[in-house]
Amino acid sequence: MNKIENNLLIIGSGPAGYTAAIYAARANLNPHLVSGLEPGGQLTITTDVENYPGFGDVIQGPWLMEEMKKQALNVGTIFHNDIVTSVNFDDKPFLSKTESGKEFLSKSVIIATGAQARWLNIDSEKNFKGFGVSACATCDGFFFKDQKVIVVGGGNSAVEEALFLTKFASKVMLVHRRDTLRAEKILQDRLFNNKKIEVIWDTKVIEFLGDKNPQTLKQVVLENIKNSERSIIDVNGAFIAIGHDPATSLFKGKLDMDDENYILTKNDSTETSIKGVFAAGDVKDKVYRQAVTAAGMGCMAALEAEKFIAEEF
Ligand code: NAP
Repeated sequence: MNKIENNLLIIGSGPAGYTAAIYAARANLNPHLVSGLEPGGQLTITTDVENYPGFGDVIQGPWLMEEMKKQALNVGTIFHNDIVTSVNFDDKPFLSKTESGKEFLSKSVIIATGAQARWLNIDSEKNFKGFGVSACATCDGFFFKDQKVIVVGGGNSAVEEALFLTKFASKVMLVHRRDTLRAEKILQDRLFNNKKIEVIWDTKVIEFLGDKNPQTLKQVVLENIKNSERSIIDVNGAFIAIGHDPATSLFKGKLDMDDENYILTKNDSTETSIKGVFAAGDVKDKVYRQAVTAAGMGCMAALEAEKFIAEEF
């Protein structure tokens, strides 16, 4: 068994995890970082990033994450392309086991596991996942060249995905369950000014229809929420952009969480209900959910971990 005794284990490799790693490495804590299922996190499945400060020109999400990783490695972070499968916060040092069989015995832990895309959870959605139904326009939009697609949702993600999809699709229909969007005004303006986009208000998706062999999405059944009228529209692709759930199943029953399973931390702090365990980024934040706020929290977590280790060990 490969037992690794260390000061600090960082779980997750989004902006929160990498920023925590940069600060902790520069504080000589020799942090170990386990990347998780989706190395680089959600920014690796976006394209243009215009709101991360420090870049005059538009940058690409995957590039930004590669740079953060490089920076974390250059200052001494020990990187593991692995997945943490269990944690024990009952005893110190904290024990975390990984898929590849590593065991970390850590004085402190920073959880930066982020959040995952939410699905509609209707039966037919499962049948067409990967065969027309997707939660990532950046990953799959290219496949819908000159075809018709819908995007479900009314937040920033849905509007950004709809705009992005106009680069490929012949028509994009944004299906939203209310009559106003949650997205920022600047994005709404771009949406309403785009001739390829039609917004279908007060409407939810009831069912996905298509062929079984080969599995191909052909239509969606929609229902108007106000008058319950149903309609069927022909589409080739459906992108679900209705928000995210925090990746916290590993920590259930081990740390205090709110009713949506976001990890709770003390006021003005990243410390969780267990002393020495910290949480940063989307895993604990359902309000801001930005790369820059996640990075800020990663910095806070590293500074708090450093202080904790200095005081306790
Ligand atoms: P969000 O803001 O929570 O929006 C989710 C949308 O999906 C809402 O419009 C919601 O409808 C709808 N929805 C939720 N559950 C649904 C269901 N079961 N069926 C149909 N519709 C459903 O999520 P998001 O757009 O992913 O954004 C998350 C956070 O990241 C936000 O803070 C956002 O500002 C941020 N973000 C920022 C940028 C950027 O700054 N460039 C880009 C992307 C995301 P209701 O409106 O009716 O609730």
